[in-house]
Amino acid sequence: MILENGTVRTLDPSLPEARALAIAGDRIAGGVGVHETALASPERVDLRGRCVLPGFNDAHVHFPTWALAQQQVRLEGTHSIDEALERVAAAVPELEPGRWLSGMGWRSGDWSPAVEPTKEALDRVTGDTPTALMARDYHSLWLNSAALARANGDLEVDGGVVVRDERGEPTGVLREECAWHFRDTHVRPTENEMVEASRAGIKLANARGVTAIHDKDGWLGALGVFQRLQADGSLSLRVWESHPKDELDTLLALPLHGPFGNEMLRLGYVKAFMDGTLGSQTARMLDGTGVEITSQAELEDVIVRAAEHGFPVAVHAIGDRANRDALDAFESTQDVWRDKVRPRVEHAQLLAPEDLPRFAALGVACSVQFSHAPSDRDLADRFWAGKTDRAYAYRSLWESGAVLANGSDAPIEELDPWAGVCAGVLRTIDDRKAWHPEQRLMLEQALVATCVNPAWLAGDERRRGKLIPGYFADLVVLDRDPFQLDPDELPSVQVVATMVGGRWVHNPPPWE
Ligand SMILES: [Zn+2]
Repeated sequence: MILENGTVRTLDPSLPEARALAIAGDRIAGGVGVHETALASPERVDLRGRCVLPGFNDAHVHFPTWALAQQQVRLEGTHSIDEALERVAAAVPELEPGRWLSGMGWRSGDWSPAVEPTKEALDRVTGDTPTALMARDYHSLWLNSAALARANGDLEVDGGVVVRDERGEPTGVLREECAWHFRDTHVRPTENEMVEASRAGIKLANARGVTAIHDKDGWLGALGVFQRLQADGSLSLRVWESHPKDELDTLLALPLHGPFGNEMLRLGYVKAFMDGTLGSQTARMLDGTGVEITSQAELEDVIVRAAEHGFPVAVHAIGDRANRDALDAFESTQDVWRDKVRPRVEHAQLLAPEDLPRFAALGVACSVQFSHAPSDRDLADRFWAGKTDRAYAYRSLWESGAVLANGSDAPIEELDPWAGVCAGVLRTIDDRKAWHPEQRLMLEQALVATCVNPAWLAGDERRRGKLIPGYFADLVVLDRDPFQLDPDELPSVQVVATMVGGRWVHNPPPWE
């Protein structure tokens, strides 16, 4: 197949731009003029001036959770608790009897008047229907009385918080490990539910130009979910799957020497958490506040044991203390993992100035979410006042030489890599001016972080992430060449079609 009459952006510095692209089987054969004469009557696709880029790799997504969230009550953008309660109330009659009411996306910091959620407020609209509403950052869970009753008072877990009123009664809000323990014990989705939701989710992701993901739902059994989808022919994106730190022994008991699987689906890395989040005010800070989920010593142990079996660690760190502890742990263990695995810090949201250059110096990648900066700006200005010049410091990290990978953290943000690229370049998602404009990225940097670097993190740098001969034909067709546009026009660019391994997985040509 030859894609011609357009602009091909290879993201390879030796030949950044081509007029056409030849594809043979699942691979890129070359630029036209080189290989096409060797092909027997190739199919020709007229791009009509459109632009071809390497497919987008979302480097941080909770895929089955995101896919399920497409069907739940969504509380994003609610300006008051009453508005949130109205949306919940509207969902109650829709529910089959006996089912939980599940929802997500609330953020009490967005509500005015300022109020914290309570079980009583929820009880008024849900009655006896057990209801669990995950906060937008997934670190707090809002429950009603019917839901709390299921736990029989068994709510406390290390590393978590049960919010209590002055009488010591749970208010209905659980944080961190307490939130996750409750969810995993009482509202865990079944594998069948995850498979069905993910089947639809994959189509939607393909429609947004996604050809690969780094999934974070390993703890939920996502590996088996994707395995079933691959077996029935529905897995049309490549998956680099995580395994939870808390079940490290299970992984290391297998006779594996590192990542295992096939070119579509691999078990790749161990996922750990150092702290909470900005929105829940549980990020672990150098000022001593926040919640410690994993200590530096424990992380060192995980890094070493995982690396000895060939697995890298991806560790969530939001606050400046959490990031320092993670960096210290990677530094003290570097003899074990260096040149062997590719570790990463997820989020790296707030960094002490002296810690920022350590990512590049140590060779620890930053797996960040460009859309978080403009979307969190109001919270950061409030909770991290005076510190935001070292928050979401993507340009500084890039300039320091750190490997930057971009993800959505869906369902926290929408799974939409192009929106992420725009957020990285513009540092705004509304009509306000850029937030800390000195941290804006160039378009090419944002694309390298979205296409090239995630492939490197998965050890795939010699077979995908760029449009060069021998690499997988994983690509996205955009309606216009974004390099020809003013930055302000970038959000209007549309995904036209998506190809994975030489096969169209969204909107095959011909196009209008
Ligand atoms: Zn996440």
